[in-house]
Amino acid sequence: MAEQKAALRPPIESGCPDGFQYMHPAMRKNYGQWKFHEHPRPGVLRHVAHSGDEIWTVKAGTQRILDSYTLRKLTSIGDEFADGFVRFTLRSNIEYMVTDQAKVEPLIKALEDAGFVVGGTANSVAMISHTQGWLHCDIPGTDASGVVKAMMDELIDEFKNCNMPNRVHLTTSCCQINCGGQGDIAINVQHTKPPKINHDLVSNVCERPSVVARCPVAAIRPAQVNGKPSLEVDEKKCICCGACFPPCPPMQINDPIHTQLAIWVGGNHSNARSKPTFQKLVAAGIPNNPPRWPEATAIVKQILKAYKEGAKDWERINDWIDRIGWPRFFEVTGLPFTKYHIDNWRGARNSLNASTHIRF
Ligand code: SF4
Ligand code: SF4
Repeated sequence: MAEQKAALRPPIESGCPDGFQYMHPAMRKNYGQWKFHEHPRPGVLRHVAHSGDEIWTVKAGTQRILDSYTLRKLTSIGDEFADGFVRFTLRSNIEYMVTDQAKVEPLIKALEDAGFVVGGTANSVAMISHTQGWLHCDIPGTDASGVVKAMMDELIDEFKNCNMPNRVHLTTSCCQINCGGQGDIAINVQHTKPPKINHDLVSNVCERPSVVARCPVAAIRPAQVNGKPSLEVDEKKCICCGACFPPCPPMQINDPIHTQLAIWVGGNHSNARSKPTFQKLVAAGIPNNPPRWPEATAIVKQILKAYKEGAKDWERINDWIDRIGWPRFFEVTGLPFTKYHIDNWRGARNSLNASTHIRF
């Protein structure tokens, strides 16, 4: 007789909970049945369903990491002035849904009285999406959340109003290689020197084969230094990406002078009107200058000004640059074109990330 198999252990579901249970009842009822939507004012959307139901959404900017006091304040506003349902967007905005138009203006007033900024819809500069590795990650080279705060303070009018030719998505990242930004304008960390190795620590801290395997350009080799197993870097090959630093912290890459910021433009995930595009580098070597990052903010404002003045209605930044061409882009933004804009790295064959192969 066949031995009875032990019952399989059921999987532990610890991922995201089902979002439907938290949705506004009008959204649940009309799911997939929306007829049209419109944009009555900045920060507000009105959706109308085939059933005739309507729902107004009011959007306000919030910080990515919310303290419990702010969260309680936001949810109390939702209980008192909205229908008690909220959702958070990818770009750290809170959205309140109401079915009664009469609630919209008092809700906006309550949010603004409490110091929140309503906006970020349609052709505005949306909230900057960002990582916050300074708090939780092992490899950040800057405080991306700080860059967001400093920049959005200066772009607040563009968030509150809809004066751009089309929507502008800004992003930042706190390192150069991982969850870094891809957007209409991205402000990303840029390391500018190879890692500095503390040979006394490598043998105790790093698993050398993993570190060697981590380098995308095979610039790391095992070595004996002062009689101890360590590593060495071929600095001619190194592209200063920082990928060796997480598995081997003695390969220090961050430093106050050589860890800088770079600005990239024209990245677009959406294929609504044109194909998705990769962003391109337009400014390099910008000081990583906390707490207000004035140099990076000035360049972002320069690009936004030129885009606002020169783009046609509904052109995203990549569409605008495609139409006017890169030489004209550098002319109208006043940004210098330097040797750093030329992709001349010999090891890249065609160009990095041009193949469909996955690399680690
Ligand atoms: S961008 Fe880099 S440093 Fe920041 S959270 Fe992601 S992996 Fe960590
Ligand atoms: S910084 Fe990047 S390219 Fe340079 S040695 Fe480390 S992993 Fe390799």
